[in-house]
Amino acid sequence: MSPSKNPRPEPSSSAPKQGSARRAAGQPPATGGGSKAPAGGSNADSSRPQIRPKAEGWQQPMDAEGRPKLQFAQPKVKQPPKHLADMTLDERVTKAKELGISGFRAKQLSVHYFRHYTADPDQMTDLPAETREQLVEEFLPPLLTEVRRLKTDDGATIKFLWRLFDGALVESVLMRYRSRITLCISSQCGCGMNCPFCATGQNGLTRNMSSAEIVDQIVQANRAIAAGELDAPNAAEIAEEQDHAALGEETDFAESEASAAAGKGASSSGVGPQRVSNIVFMGMGEPLANYKRVMNAVRRMVDPAPEGLGMSARGITISTVGLVPAIRKLADENLPITFALSLHAPDDELRDELIPVNSRWKADEAIDAAYHYYETTGRRVSIEYALIKDMNDHLWRAELLAEKLNARGRGWVHVNPIPLNPTPGSIWTSSEPEVMRAFVNRLESLGVPTTLRDTRGKEIDGACGQLAAAED
Ligand code: SAH
Repeated sequence: MSPSKNPRPEPSSSAPKQGSARRAAGQPPATGGGSKAPAGGSNADSSRPQIRPKAEGWQQPMDAEGRPKLQFAQPKVKQPPKHLADMTLDERVTKAKELGISGFRAKQLSVHYFRHYTADPDQMTDLPAETREQLVEEFLPPLLTEVRRLKTDDGATIKFLWRLFDGALVESVLMRYRSRITLCISSQCGCGMNCPFCATGQNGLTRNMSSAEIVDQIVQANRAIAAGELDAPNAAEIAEEQDHAALGEETDFAESEASAAAGKGASSSGVGPQRVSNIVFMGMGEPLANYKRVMNAVRRMVDPAPEGLGMSARGITISTVGLVPAIRKLADENLPITFALSLHAPDDELRDELIPVNSRWKADEAIDAAYHYYETTGRRVSIEYALIKDMNDHLWRAELLAEKLNARGRGWVHVNPIPLNPTPGSIWTSSEPEVMRAFVNRLESLGVPTTLRDTRGKEIDGACGQLAAAED
């Protein structure tokens, strides 16, 4: 890593493109298709440099054409053992019968796992002693072993580092807010999308996580909550929550509390759920590159107990770099889950470098797919935008973003800027607070609902993949 206290405009790592000279001087492009800045671009931008994205401290793997390599398929490696959470209830019953055990036992076992969050045979006193061990062995192989747990925000945030059966490391982050509990989960070991600012991508894709490995993150988090290990947010965090959008804020709380009451029970004080109410696929991996297993996991989250966790689909957010065909497929699933697109730049010139998958599907195609998601499901979609100092935080980009979103309609989208989780000294630094405010205000003034997202857990290597990278 090479610290640069006075960041200067960096030359683009890819072939020179039209307009890059103007950008290097901090100017929006004068002309040019997808990267056209709207008229009236702000004067404030003219004194600002344009930093180009560049991997620091690691080398981005390149493909034969010299572009950042994309890995869509997982390497051929051993898969984890099959677990109850990989199966529908019917499949569990069938398997139990094949083992010569009554199908009813599969249901009882499912209640233990999905309602009591236990995989411990000693606690399953309603099951005959002689079949308990066998059932647990066959249906509940251990999937996630806790390696490390970091608490922050006065105990209202817990970051878990898990080791999987083959030694792969993944993370999840549990956050209690005033009226919801959000878990940020991983969907792949590593990631093949190669985004230069993201810690997860740096070692490529090891493998897809199984459905049960994805679900077990929630069951383990629920176990920790039930054991009283996740504290309430303090007054300062609640105040901050009111200023910023919390992860998974889309949930209708009345609904999530009702389902929590039906499942595990609301807290005795009646404030907030006592189990995970919201899921965001914003941990390690690209969920839409592991489509089948992720969707099977989502089914398990929303299936009523004892088939699954009985969660509200509206509280589940799937976030993607923009795999357009998969976004369209997701829209057809007929599930009211929340969709988030990691856009990070409205112009292809910058997005080509920030999000390598932009070489396949351009910003406009990704935005079209997000709009299609809205049209098909009626669910307002989120645009994620990590604000990176002097890289993507220019006001002309806020204007271009607003123009592109408004061109498709009003009321279908909201923007969630988030300060970049920085690596000290690198060109990847979070925007200055006043720049962030100006960016948000510009979007708002152009009629785009915008909320700066909160940054829970930032002092515990909150950026996805940072913890696993540190442990490697
Ligand atoms: N692959 C999916 C989901 C995982 S990342 C996706 O890209 O959407 C979840 C979000 O965190 C994405 O918007 C991603 O761009 C963002 N992210 C990654 N590294 C970050 C960092 N260092 N600071 C802030 N956001 C980051």
